[in-house]
Amino acid sequence: MTQPSNTQRHQIIIVGGGAAGISVAASLLRRDQSLDIGIIEPSDRHFYQAAFTLVGAGCYAAEATVREEVGLIPSGVNWIRAAATRFDPDGNIVELDSGLSVEYEYLVVCPGLALNWEGIEGLPETIGKNNVSSNYLLEYARYTRSSLESLEGGRLLFTQPPMPIKCAGAPQKIMYLAANELERNNKLGNFDIEFHTATPALFGVADFVPPLMKYIERYGVSLNLQSNLVAIDGNQI
Ligand SMILES: Cc1cc2nc3c(=O)[nH]c(=O)nc-3n(C[C@H](O)[C@H](O)[C@H](O)COP(=O)(O)OP(=O)(O)OC[C@H]3O[C@@H](n4cnc5c(N)ncnc54)[C@H](O)[C@@H]3O)c2cc1C
Repeated sequence: MTQPSNTQRHQIIIVGGGAAGISVAASLLRRDQSLDIGIIEPSDRHFYQAAFTLVGAGCYAAEATVREEVGLIPSGVNWIRAAATRFDPDGNIVELDSGLSVEYEYLVVCPGLALNWEGIEGLPETIGKNNVSSNYLLEYARYTRSSLESLEGGRLLFTQPPMPIKCAGAPQKIMYLAANELERNNKLGNFDIEFHTATPALFGVADFVPPLMKYIERYGVSLNLQSNLVAIDGNQI
């Protein structure tokens, strides 16, 4: 059957060219070079998100987390530069925002997680100012750094929302790194540090809790389990 001209076809279609999509494509090609793979990815930039925590902590250059997507798509894979807008699993078709469609034999879906700032009342209005930050976006990871550098004392709140989140360890990692920096600069005593997590335990894997508790104690962190941030007024800070 002749395909309509606005439909491409690939044996394997991967939606999302982030860490997962690129890894899947590379791994499949390593097993079988003859595979016909297309990656649907709208962005020309790839972010090494795991290092955003380190950007906030001042241990990693922000620019080093950004790479050109074109240099990361494995050779032989067709990059379809568009966003998937609709799945038709019965017809084995993905529709794109470009108006085109792609037909596949196998589909791998890995578009990552979308950030939901609106999930916390008042957060969209204050994030990126008033010393309110989040390392889940590079722009704000830079702001975390400048905030931490400017503070001389006070109350530092680190919060972790319920799952799903991009990285379960990120809220604690920046807290320990920030506290360590304050300790090295003899400023730790000027701060009251609190950790509020929506989870019932400090970490989901029980074996990791005792070593993490040593750092909670070392930095004098007030630990608040099942405590979930629901609203924020940045102007009151
Ligand atoms: C602050 C922070 C710290 C982290 N620390 C660690 C760590 O220490 N260790 C660790 O293992 N992990 C860590 N992670 C998690 C890790 O970065 C993610 O697990 C990983 O990036 C997920 O890869 P992904 O490809 O699933 O999603 P992403 O990397 O988010 O990529 C998704 C891709 O899909 C694309 N996309 C979105 N919608 C569409 C659409 N409709 N059509 C087509 N494409 C679309 C996006 O443009 C993006 O390129 C951290 C994450 C953050 C934010």
